[in-house]
Amino acid sequence: MSRPADRITPAQSGTGDMEPDEFRKAAHVTADLAADYLERLERYDVLPQIVPGSIRKRLTESPPAGPEPLASILADYSAWIEPNITHWQHPGFMAYFPSVASGPGILGEWLSATLNSNVMFWRNAPASTELEQVVVGWLRQMLGLPEAFDGMFTDTASVSSLLSILAARHVVPGIDATELGLCGAPQLSLYASAEAHSSIEKAAIASGIGRRGLRRIEVDGQFRMRPEALAAAIAEDRAKGKLPFCVVVTLGTTSSTSIDPVAAIAEICEREGLWLHVDAAYGGAAALAPELRSLFPGWERADSIVVNPHKWMFTPFDASLLLFRRPEAFRGTFCLTPEYLRASVQEGAHNYSEYGIQLGRRFRALKLWFMIRWFGSEGFATRIREHCRLAADLAARIEAEPGWELLAPVPLATVCFRFRPAGTAIDSDGLDQTNQSILDAVNQTGRFYLSATRLNGRLALRVALGNPRV
Ligand code: PLP
Repeated sequence: MSRPADRITPAQSGTGDMEPDEFRKAAHVTADLAADYLERLERYDVLPQIVPGSIRKRLTESPPAGPEPLASILADYSAWIEPNITHWQHPGFMAYFPSVASGPGILGEWLSATLNSNVMFWRNAPASTELEQVVVGWLRQMLGLPEAFDGMFTDTASVSSLLSILAARHVVPGIDATELGLCGAPQLSLYASAEAHSSIEKAAIASGIGRRGLRRIEVDGQFRMRPEALAAAIAEDRAKGKLPFCVVVTLGTTSSTSIDPVAAIAEICEREGLWLHVDAAYGGAAALAPELRSLFPGWERADSIVVNPHKWMFTPFDASLLLFRRPEAFRGTFCLTPEYLRASVQEGAHNYSEYGIQLGRRFRALKLWFMIRWFGSEGFATRIREHCRLAADLAARIEAEPGWELLAPVPLATVCFRFRPAGTAIDSDGLDQTNQSILDAVNQTGRFYLSATRLNGRLALRVALGNPRV
């Protein structure tokens, strides 16, 4: 019996695109496929048991010369793509940090693709621009941050941090990096903890600060930046004629979710006249639960903050929220309007492309608008609380279980631990290998996917919670 998709075949004339009625049918078929995936998701192994190159071999090497019916495209999708991804949506996926797409977010993403609104200038994306302003404001309020913060969406935290570091560079007194570049200028110094994410190092490379311009500040026994070590590094750099300009604080580091003491560091930044950027890509979502905001006292003193809704807010990838207090620093860095775009600039309107590198920008606010309206701020808070409760419960069980130990505190919803049989020395040879074997064995079951990190040089197994299906 033929299925609806069998009857959806490309037209041989006209635009070649789907006619609206065909699109409607195709969309229904595709919606069923998407809903079926979400329904059967848990029956898949989290990690497909395949070797590199095995999928590519199954796919046709040359592009089709002529049109193919939707049914054959979807059949290949169902046979080769869907079953052979790593299932980030699976409740057993507890590696890295969560990245989960909820229903309303998927629908918002779909409609955003349908509208294909390119959010450059208000003139070419009026409703999309204004919705972004509204949703950025909603998220700011949901995170409990003051009205002084404005912001925008970018694709990733890596880009949000890069833009912030470039804006910080723009306002350094005495140099004009935006106009003249850094040639001949004193070495700029950027500071982040030894546990900060690699995206900060990439930002140092991309911004001309260079890897040597990034000083990694030592951490305390709980993997948090030591403010006194930061102050000493700044003083040392000044004495050497370098120009300290920006400090990156991490609220929820990637390895252990440690939380830098942002209030003490804000104090130093204010005293020294340095830009404070907060990387709360993962951890920031905890502030959606008002009682957890006490984890970050002082983050409201930052110049810029990044929180990724595509991490712990069930938002389909990609969506990174960049909040800043000094929009003029971003606009000063990135606003340039070539002749061919001048007519698009409407007096008094907000033009998002003037605040970042990209001219063309995706309409990300739509999916977040859908999601925030669907869950409500309480809906997010409830789930975040539950993930923290589960993580605390797991941590308590690990502590109570002979032979197992925690390797870091658990302030949020990620637990770092390892197996260390009674009587084994802390740095006993072979413990890393044993724990690697445990990790491999767990991941081979297909039921869970965990990742690992290194803390104090020791291999740590990581369980990161954040999927509402857990
Ligand atoms: N910052 C932190 C603390 C992270 O944990 C990560 C990724 O896990 C990033 C930045 C980079 O995020 P993105 O993939 O959005 O660039």
